[in-house]
Amino acid sequence: MPQEFLPFALPEIGDAEIAEVVDTLKSGWVTTGPKTKRFEEDFTAFLGDPALASLAVNSATAGLHLALEALGIGPGDEVITTTHTFTATAEVVRYLGADVKLVDIDPATLNIDPAAVEAAITPRTKALMPVHYAGLAADMPALLDIARRHGLKVVEDAAHALPTTCGGQLVGTLGSDATVFSFYANKTITTGEGGMLVTRDPELARRARVMRLHGMSRDAFDRFTAKVPSWYYEIVAPGFKYNLTDIAAALGIHQLRRARAFQQRRVQLAALYDEALRGLPVLLPPRPAAGDLHAWHLYVLRLADGAPIARDRLIEALYADGIGCSVHYIPLHLQPYWRDRYGLQPAQFPHSQHAFAHMLSLPLYTRMTDADVLRVAASVRRALGG
Ligand SMILES: *Cc1c(COP(=O)(O)O)cnc(C)c1O
Repeated sequence: MPQEFLPFALPEIGDAEIAEVVDTLKSGWVTTGPKTKRFEEDFTAFLGDPALASLAVNSATAGLHLALEALGIGPGDEVITTTHTFTATAEVVRYLGADVKLVDIDPATLNIDPAAVEAAITPRTKALMPVHYAGLAADMPALLDIARRHGLKVVEDAAHALPTTCGGQLVGTLGSDATVFSFYANKTITTGEGGMLVTRDPELARRARVMRLHGMSRDAFDRFTAKVPSWYYEIVAPGFKYNLTDIAAALGIHQLRRARAFQQRRVQLAALYDEALRGLPVLLPPRPAAGDLHAWHLYVLRLADGAPIARDRLIEALYADGIGCSVHYIPLHLQPYWRDRYGLQPAQFPHSQHAFAHMLSLPLYTRMTDADVLRVAASVRRALGG
């Protein structure tokens, strides 16, 4: 009897989230308002550092754009990031007319390789954008050291990294210029669409807050009088429409409260996969350093060299068994826009290229049962002739 289809990803939305959304709808305040403010305050509290400003935005892409804009990235500048990421990480650099320098990954962690970053620095380089791939922290001590020595800004793409720690510190508190989280539907917590820009830099926060909503500022008035009338604002720049709605924030408030428990369940599911897949011709996902948290946004399996079937065949076999999976990512150097704009060749990114050819992401989400994991692992085992 064919089993029910097991999707690649599903959000876990509970009664508390639903009740909060209903409350928001009934309140009459459906766009950015009190719930968004509360979500931002809760987010700063979650990260545990009151010196951090958390700015809710309608996507991580928007947050990354605002962070780079506030840092003054523009035409003539170069920003270094990993080729092994989603296009959003890099596209925001092009929004600002700056150029992207893609570099290879460390094959052990699938994260950006600090040595490749250092080799890619030119006099035009202004910033680094590490991605905490799959929820495993990038080598932030090495990257922050490179940035300090070369006078570069650092904006972390933490779309996969809630909660992730590096040297025992939560991503978001590591000392970069800004960190951006995603609450897209398949991320570790979700608001449908949404994101959070976190920074310790008051100037960056001030600029991003203004640019998040049309370049509108009420600060200018304060210079002349203590009391700003509620109708008064000034437009100080052609800003963006990147604010989060209270409807989305209502979800976020309750998802955030569950983030720790979600992460613990993901750890369990990943450990169960590890156990059930042991002995097969595969590379299991890299582990975090002792004592560190891995957010386990993705469970990325790589076929070993000499595995009996190719990655594409394995994905077909899983689909035939009613199991959804995915590939993270088709590296940017293979995508027509990035490849053609910068004349990129696969040979420049041997580790990303090899990983891409051998990898697939198995379903991993909190609504999965242990039996679901065992079913996926059994399907992988059958396909590999184990
Ligand atoms: C999901 C994702 C983004 C974009 O997040 P949005 O909230 O959808 O804009 C950026 N970078 C990475 C690595 C992602 O996985």
